[in-house]
Amino acid sequence: MNVVVDTDIYINREKERMTEDKFQHIRDCIGDDVFEKVQKAKVLVVGAGGIGCELLKNLVLSGFKDIHIIDLDTIDLSNLNRQFLFRKHHIGMSKAKIAREAVLKYNPDVNIEAHEGDIKNQQYGHQYFQRFDLVMNALDNLSARKHVNRMCLSVGVPLVESGTAGYLGQATVILKEKTECFECLPKEAPKEFAVCTIRSNPSSPIHCIVWAKMLYGRLFDVADENNAVTDMDDNIVEGDPEKGTEVRDTKLEQAKAKGYDHWVFHKVFHTDIDRLARMKDLWTGKTPPTPLLLDDLLNNYQKNNGNNNNNNNGTITTKSIALNSQIVNSFEDNTRAFVEVIKKLKERLEKDGAKSWDKDDDLALDFVVAASNIRSHIFGIPLKSKFDIKQMAGNIVPAIATTNAIISGFIVLEAFKILSSRDQIQEKCKTTFLFKQPSNKRVIYPVSIDQPNKSCYVCSQTVVTLKIDTNTTTIGKLVNEVLKKGLAFHEPMIMKGQSMIYEGGDDLDKEELDARKMVEQKPMITFGLSDNAIIEVHDYLQDIKVSILISHCDKFEDQNKFFEVSGKPPQVQSDTTTAATTTTTDGTVQQEDIDEVEIIEYPPPSDGKLKRKEREQDDITVEEEQMQEEQDPHKRTKK
Ligand SMILES: [Zn+2]
Repeated sequence: MNVVVDTDIYINREKERMTEDKFQHIRDCIGDDVFEKVQKAKVLVVGAGGIGCELLKNLVLSGFKDIHIIDLDTIDLSNLNRQFLFRKHHIGMSKAKIAREAVLKYNPDVNIEAHEGDIKNQQYGHQYFQRFDLVMNALDNLSARKHVNRMCLSVGVPLVESGTAGYLGQATVILKEKTECFECLPKEAPKEFAVCTIRSNPSSPIHCIVWAKMLYGRLFDVADENNAVTDMDDNIVEGDPEKGTEVRDTKLEQAKAKGYDHWVFHKVFHTDIDRLARMKDLWTGKTPPTPLLLDDLLNNYQKNNGNNNNNNNGTITTKSIALNSQIVNSFEDNTRAFVEVIKKLKERLEKDGAKSWDKDDDLALDFVVAASNIRSHIFGIPLKSKFDIKQMAGNIVPAIATTNAIISGFIVLEAFKILSSRDQIQEKCKTTFLFKQPSNKRVIYPVSIDQPNKSCYVCSQTVVTLKIDTNTTTIGKLVNEVLKKGLAFHEPMIMKGQSMIYEGGDDLDKEELDARKMVEQKPMITFGLSDNAIIEVHDYLQDIKVSILISHCDKFEDQNKFFEVSGKPPQVQSDTTTAATTTTTDGTVQQEDIDEVEIIEYPPPSDGKLKRKEREQDDITVEEEQMQEEQDPHKRTKK
């Protein structure tokens, strides 16, 4: 349930307080000099969501007078419990624009420019970023964070970066050549599942939920060739048709004749399960799954409840069912709900066309609830309530308003420090962590900011080594999976020596586009991108140029990987002792394999990062240092 608190009463109270010296309290805190800089500063806030709303309110109440705000999103019902600048009647409207209107009520004497748009769009290029004294990120995804990081590095504008996840949060400052950048340390990889676990061998509810979402996509969303969750007409359960050894599920045709609900149910809960059950190797030491027959289940239900009827074509209809959100519905109820909801979805598909899965689309959610629970039942996995499944399927880490409020406060404090002495950012600014449990008796934990990581391919000139199979990897896969997904380039251009191999962007004419498509289909080796070749990748928008040393590799220890990137210069890597101590902490970029399913977009700040800082930083304040030694006298070895 969303609770919306009407904050107009607070706004009015705030207005009353805003007399002549409405900023006296800020002046007292930061001094007249800094306050003057605050009043003159031109700042950009990227994102008007959970953190963005709090941050904008803080900015106008602390004397900032020239603010740009950008967000591409529109307001959704589910935002209202924490994005307090928005009201129910704003649903569907631009976040940036409504946020502007709302904070102008707090302080009308501010110039706010609101943009409804994507910060990665070309119109927000260097010239746009250059005009700001300070950029503040209030984003919820890694790809936009990386992009803004690179834009700020490229024009030398200080960036306050922030993030929250549940009770955890952090805020930090990034400045070219002075501090580490957002990409100096690898980010924790999103939780991913191998496709074979999802398709063949699920062992927990989330595996079945991911599968059910894929099935929804296969049946009711636009066709996606990567979605191989099932092939609706394939009735082979064992053997090879080319050798004439195949065994077929002949009942699939009969089920198809009974209607769409029977067809889908039989295909995914009988034919596909039968095929898996026959793969003996999968089930050593485990019970193989049992295929289900819909008519048997419905007949049983009829026998036990006696309130059904057989209609003309011999199919059984049951009493209408609504899944209860809070309790775990029985397997029988999930089965009945599946039959009911799939008919409605089929009708909707025929009437309105394909629709992507959305946790707030009740029909689509019911489908995933019922389908995942039936699959869980088949594999002996505990069933889940609709409420739980919505959280899990929507990748929801509960957003907590208090966390956003605290972190937004720290963003403004760092902004004051940046404006007061830009040349001492590394000394004065801090990375602040917010924890759920106290660490050394505190939940708010400031640490010094590291210097740039010399092996970071984004903010330091360094050669990146890319291990990849150059014989089989196409240029298209190199561009989309490695350069864009793995290394966060926006529109990469690949050069080898003086010749251009690939040009990104969409401002090409038809002939150039056709030529590019041809190039995309060919393996890297065709263009001389083989072992020991060096390529340069440029991205003009991000103003970044990276040299990449290619190292051919056709076997990876982790079978889910098809490439590996490390940011150490090659001569350092060849030194085995150095490499052994650095490869795991620095420079290794997590790959995002196309065959894996992404579950969580933005992980909470990793403890690993803090530990590294504790180890390497001597200038944590004396008080903190003593406290640490009291707690664990053996922990710190460096003096
Ligand atoms: Zn960096």
